[in-house]
Amino acid sequence: MVHSVAWESLPGSTGKFNPHGHLQHAAGLYILMQVEAGVCCPLSMTYSGYPILHRYLLCTSQQLTNSFPLERILSRKYDKRCLPANMKTGLTIGMALTEKQGGSDVQTNTTKAYCDNAQEKRYILIGHKWFCSAPMSDGFLVLAQIQYDDNMNQSSSYSKPSCFFVPRWLPNGQRNPFYIQRLKDKLGNRSNASSEIEFNNTQAWLLGKEHNGVKVIIDMINGTRLDSAISSAALMRQALVQATWHARHRKAFGRLLIEQPLMKQVLIDLLLESEAATTLVMYLATLYDMTYNNMYSNNTGEKQELARIASALAKFWICKRTPETTYEALECLGGAGFIEESIMPRIYREAPINSIWEGSGNVICLDILRSMKRSPESLQAYISFMHETKGSNKHLDNALENVEKHLLKKNLPSDMFERHARTLATQLALCLQAGLLVRHLPQTVSDAFCSSRLGPNRGSIFGDLPMDIDTDTLLKRLPF
Ligand SMILES: Cc1cc2nc3c(=O)[nH]c(=O)nc-3n(C[C@H](O)[C@H](O)[C@H](O)COP(=O)(O)OP(=O)(O)OC[C@H]3O[C@@H](n4cnc5c(N)ncnc54)[C@H](O)[C@@H]3O)c2cc1C
Repeated sequence: MVHSVAWESLPGSTGKFNPHGHLQHAAGLYILMQVEAGVCCPLSMTYSGYPILHRYLLCTSQQLTNSFPLERILSRKYDKRCLPANMKTGLTIGMALTEKQGGSDVQTNTTKAYCDNAQEKRYILIGHKWFCSAPMSDGFLVLAQIQYDDNMNQSSSYSKPSCFFVPRWLPNGQRNPFYIQRLKDKLGNRSNASSEIEFNNTQAWLLGKEHNGVKVIIDMINGTRLDSAISSAALMRQALVQATWHARHRKAFGRLLIEQPLMKQVLIDLLLESEAATTLVMYLATLYDMTYNNMYSNNTGEKQELARIASALAKFWICKRTPETTYEALECLGGAGFIEESIMPRIYREAPINSIWEGSGNVICLDILRSMKRSPESLQAYISFMHETKGSNKHLDNALENVEKHLLKKNLPSDMFERHARTLATQLALCLQAGLLVRHLPQTVSDAFCSSRLGPNRGSIFGDLPMDIDTDTLLKRLPF
């Protein structure tokens, strides 16, 4: 359901119109991620890859689309068998973009694509991919450089990459050459296989126009950014749950930890972080619902512009905060939190990954700057949205004014603008979280968040909270 519910009502799919598909996807992923992170990667790639295939695959070759029935991607039955797609009950999608010389900078991809049949948009790939997670998937989105000579040994000059679909099995029922060279030995996320792969005379079908690969995969990036943020928010929530449970049952110096004033501060601070993250990702999912519902009726609006900037802010900020949050929660369990029998080491090892893949921290910040320049409407949509809650909290008002006055100054030299990209992204993300808490959560929560994240007495570590926070009311919001 996590990979499919958002798309079941797209034109051509079988389900009824569902205005909340992305929100349901978000809720499902949020829960599943707290139980097992490894399986969420292929689910997320399948969720994110589907709209690209839905848009472009049918424009390739009839032979391919007959052998790769798109609707089975939406099946809720996982089929682990290695069989041609049309013999399986469910299909999953992976992606192979990253190469040794560039993951963030995919323009440097050197995998070569030679045209085999122009009418069918069929190409032959030769090259290496440094990262390819879930290599057991049934089809892959791949970036490669189209070559214009027919001598496979001769390299061509650099150009913009194009996007291809590589099915595991060919339309004639034979295996497509796809060599898994090695599985990665990873810090975390170990239950999900990530591999290095080689294409050698691998057949691939062009999606969209030549050299337009980065544009084509934008739809996928929207999905993976949302999912990275949801997954991180879920890790925060599970870490908070574990810390709170422990504090409610463990005694030290004659009192339960939850009754100790200093532990209360730490737990409340973790709660604020988790609630702000959860509120932002769920709101973002509703923006996706509005955007996609509109997009397919060609009616794009302000919400789509807001979604564009909010997805980058959520991906950057929530993923960045997760290692710190999970570490602090781990410490609440004392020594037990460091031991593998508790779930904490696994959560902790999982925490950094969402900030790395699908655009590492700096790359997302630079992307925010670029998109502000290219489509100023998205920043405008953000500002208008934030102005709607003006007057609700003085710290939020001051922070927003500061961002508008200093960080968004039009005459800032571009080098200076770039150097401050993290400052800008952090402030925009914090204001957005605060604005959403003001709208959707009790005032005690939003006041505490604004004071502790945007106010003059904000601390720099968890538990270092300003004095004006309503501790007793917030304690009641802790799990259990
Ligand atoms: C567990 C795991 C699974 C993965 N699975 C897949 C997969 O299935 N498919 C796939 O295609 N990829 C996958 N990746 C790869 C991942 O997407 C890349 O690692 C990521 O995009 C970063 O690319 P890179 O490793 O080449 O780092 P680089 O691009 O070299 O970046 C290194 C650092 O430099 C920073 N940086 C880059 N450019 C700038 C700049 N202009 N200014 C300032 N800082 C900058 C980055 O933010 C980063 O911190 C996976 C990675 C991991 C860890």
